[in-house]
Amino acid sequence: MKLSHRITQITGGGSDGWDVFYKARRMIADGIPVTELTIGEHDIPTSPDILNAMHAAAIGGHTGYAEVPGTHALRKSVAARIANRTGVPTTAENIVITPGGQAALFAAHTAICDPGDTAAYIDPFYTTYPGTIRGAGAVPKPIVTSPQTAFQPTAEALMAVTKGARSLLVNTPNNPTGVVYSAKTLQRIADACIANDLWLISDEVYDTQVWEGTHVSPRALPGMAERTMVVGSMSKSHAMTGSRVGWICGPAEAVAHLVNLSTHTTYGVAGFVQDAADFALNSGTAVEEAVAAPFRRRRALTMKALEGQNVVRAVPVQGAMYVMLDLRATGMSGEEFANALLEAEHIAVMPGESFGQAAAGHLRVAMTVADDQYVDALSRLIAFAGTCAGHTTRRSPRA
Ligand code: PMP
Repeated sequence: MKLSHRITQITGGGSDGWDVFYKARRMIADGIPVTELTIGEHDIPTSPDILNAMHAAAIGGHTGYAEVPGTHALRKSVAARIANRTGVPTTAENIVITPGGQAALFAAHTAICDPGDTAAYIDPFYTTYPGTIRGAGAVPKPIVTSPQTAFQPTAEALMAVTKGARSLLVNTPNNPTGVVYSAKTLQRIADACIANDLWLISDEVYDTQVWEGTHVSPRALPGMAERTMVVGSMSKSHAMTGSRVGWICGPAEAVAHLVNLSTHTTYGVAGFVQDAADFALNSGTAVEEAVAAPFRRRRALTMKALEGQNVVRAVPVQGAMYVMLDLRATGMSGEEFANALLEAEHIAVMPGESFGQAAAGHLRVAMTVADDQYVDALSRLIAFAGTCAGHTTRRSPRA
């Protein structure tokens, strides 16, 4: 039976860019050991304290339908967190709790775009972005950045591509590049939104993972609070990827409509999961810092491993749990290199091309295995790149 164009075209008819990942999973299933540096998932589980809070809430009876907008307690905690971090007055009425950031991205585009409307986003991009926009019935339009501008969008591109669009989706700290947008870039984004009368969807799920500079929410810029929906999540900040809890922060009137959308789609998030998220958000910033610490450490190990050779270069990594490596000196595409590396060294990384044309000739490496295993994989990757380029590279010592 025929299915809708909308659902069958979510991936745009092509591959979803995860071929290397699936190949690695098949090798592992066949008993071949593979070092997996593909997905953005911590190498630690959710903390026992958070799980105990979840258990206590469930045993205590919070297992029925929860309040659809989110519990008042969690909405208040999220609002307080955002107000504290950004200085923008924010109340529970500005918050709707969603089953993770991904559901929030879909809900935000659904709330803003009518079928056929143009929704802009920045390339390279988190892999689900174009499909999420298509799924919401809108037409994705990339703003292509380049390694020369450290993958920050230029004022000209922002202004030109968003003309006639309804929304602009941005992500800082960025997946896949690890770049944190500068104050100048954020102001350019705000200028384009105001000039072209756009909604801004600001994906800030990595806001606790900043290694250099500071995270600034574009909602805090003059004239932006009334046209911005911020997407947040407990997944990355508190290692709660499997709990599926996130939020949208936006103008109260828009949030009321988003709650209506939740009533007709997800019907909210499990009450005991929300109670655990509320507990986690009120446990202090030391918890978030402990979750972020391994990535900060591995980012330093990455820089050290890259010393003394010039085949593999890192895009300046300022945040998030990834490092983007420039392999253009090998003359290979990211896809060719990632496939060859998997075959030869049993190391799985994501080809840059999976994240858009701007990241061609690059790799995204997730810093998500133990330090010694990470350094070992990275030094083998660098040596392999050296062989591919016909250069000799110095292998870095193990950390
Ligand atoms: N945005 C970005 C940039 C991401 O990298 C991810 C997950 N990898 C998400 C949103 C969605 O995260 P979640 O649904 O787990 O909150």
